[in-house]
Amino acid sequence: SPRIGVLALQGDVREHAVALAALGADVARVRRPDDLAAVQGLVIPGGESSVIDKLARAFELHDPLREAIAGGLPVYGTCAGLILLAERIVDGIAGQQTFGGLDVTVRRNAFGSQVDSFETDLEVPSLGAPPVHAAFIRAPLIEQVGARAEPLAHLSDGRVVAVRQGPLLGTSFHPEVTGELRFHRLLLDAVAAA
Ligand code: GLN
Repeated sequence: SPRIGVLALQGDVREHAVALAALGADVARVRRPDDLAAVQGLVIPGGESSVIDKLARAFELHDPLREAIAGGLPVYGTCAGLILLAERIVDGIAGQQTFGGLDVTVRRNAFGSQVDSFETDLEVPSLGAPPVHAAFIRAPLIEQVGARAEPLAHLSDGRVVAVRQGPLLGTSFHPEVTGELRFHRLLLDAVAAA
């Protein structure tokens, strides 16, 4: 079975590990460059993107991960993980960096301060039926999708909340907290194809 890492610096690591294990992956926590070198695919969890960014630099994972992504490593980022895969953030904290890879612009905490979190059923054409029950938790919005990236899902008002670019996948929401496994399956498919 493929060895899939979960970036384990901060955030909802355990939920992703459970989802990947349910799909038969050999799951490894990634904290050091050596851990990263041993995986065939990676999940970047939700959490706080500025904290994960700082820790990745402190653990000397920033450059290796950036290079692995540029080299074609399949990676799935949820929420903060999506922010960390984005080429552009419109409202990062001072000095906030990303690993890049996804040709998108994201806005952090884009769904307002009053209604920070919500759940909704989302039609995802490439996944078919049933709809995805998606949890948005202080979620980012994919504000602009560049030519190299492809939108996978929209809210009913048209805003983009899931995107794919080759072996990279990003969602504003958390499928791992609602038992949804199809996005993790897409990651495993990308690993099998790589
Ligand atoms: N708002 C968080 C951030 O900017 C993301 C929230 C989440 O991952 N659930 O990183």
